Amino acid sequence: MVDVAVIPGDGIGKEIIPEVCRVINNINDEINFIYYDISSERYLNKGITVTDNEISELKSYRAILFGAIGDFRIKPGIMEQEVILRLRKDLDLYMNIRPVMSMPNVSKYNNLNITIYRENKEDFYSLINGTLDNDMEFRHSDALNNYDIKISGTSNDKLNYNLGILTEKNITRFFRKAYELIEDDNIVITDKANAISMYLFWREIAKNESSKFNKNIKFEYADSLAYNIILHPEKYKHIIAPNLYGDILSDMTSALAGSLGYAASGNIGDKNAMFEPVHGSAPDIAGKGIANPIAGVLSGSMLLDYLGYKKDAQRIKNIINQMLQNKIIPVESGGNAGTHDIIKYILNEKYEIN
Ligand code: ATP
Ligand code: MG
Repeated sequence: MVDVAVIPGDGIGKEIIPEVCRVINNINDEINFIYYDISSERYLNKGITVTDNEISELKSYRAILFGAIGDFRIKPGIMEQEVILRLRKDLDLYMNIRPVMSMPNVSKYNNLNITIYRENKEDFYSLINGTLDNDMEFRHSDALNNYDIKISGTSNDKLNYNLGILTEKNITRFFRKAYELIEDDNIVITDKANAISMYLFWREIAKNESSKFNKNIKFEYADSLAYNIILHPEKYKHIIAPNLYGDILSDMTSALAGSLGYAASGNIGDKNAMFEPVHGSAPDIAGKGIANPIAGVLSGSMLLDYLGYKKDAQRIKNIINQMLQNKIIPVESGGNAGTHDIIKYILNEKYEIN
């Protein structure tokens, strides 16, 4: 048996994630789900976000299935920072993966199959920022990444800065992980090396590591890539991006493939991985039975794939494809299939599709 931690969380996360576990167990009985009540509800009742004990337990699982966290009764930022960002940081999940593929009768494009591998810790998300007035000095240290930076200077104008950084260790392990996961040679690495010199360093590491993994890679500037994906989505398969461009490009490709209810994602590190639908708790539709569970189910399929159950993962994707082809269309996309109609269809299709 493989133990997998489950955090349904709040809102539609709580409705969808237990159903995803049922779908997985219907196809694969080797996965044993262990539930954690890390939620806004618990915070409101007991004042607990996530405990140190929970964090250390969660570190012992290879994979976590996560729903969504968010509740309007709690000050914005508290649960996000203390739960989601803390999990990403403490579990050192340095890569974000978002696959998008065309789905019949709901996507704008028919021939889209793109996965974006986004660096998840550095670039302009370094948190090294501040405002310089007259004489000032700042110190930024990060023991985990072995740097300690001092910024000092004077400015006659108010000057705001936010350093984009790339560290050799982090970017090297990031490219290694990407090349390990990617099985073919249609790989585009994006950046703005023509305007921002730190991406020359990014390119150098991308290239060095690619030769060790025997990968053929191409480089394309992020602006031109965005343009070309819209014109020729069928040409692209794997896109490796720095944090900020990865964020923008992955939202863009998700929109081409459908809406939020179809977008799955994974956060990957060396020891741990956490899979979650891209959408949040969606309080406006929570409790109505109309949430589209496909993003959650596809996150479950990514989890299976990551744990090595590739056939089961593909099977789930085939079932969803076939369901949409048969015009079982989620409410979100203008159809009348609610959460349970969709789950019921998926559970019943188990033996009929290879
Ligand atoms: P949070 O604060 O938790 O991020 P949110 O209000 O930002 O929640 P999201 O879940 O991010 O809401 O999504 C925005 C909107 O998109 C929702 O309010 C909902 O109307 C719609 N939506 C998101 N996910 C789904 C889904 N799975 N099925 C149907 N509609 C969805
Ligand atoms: Mg949101």
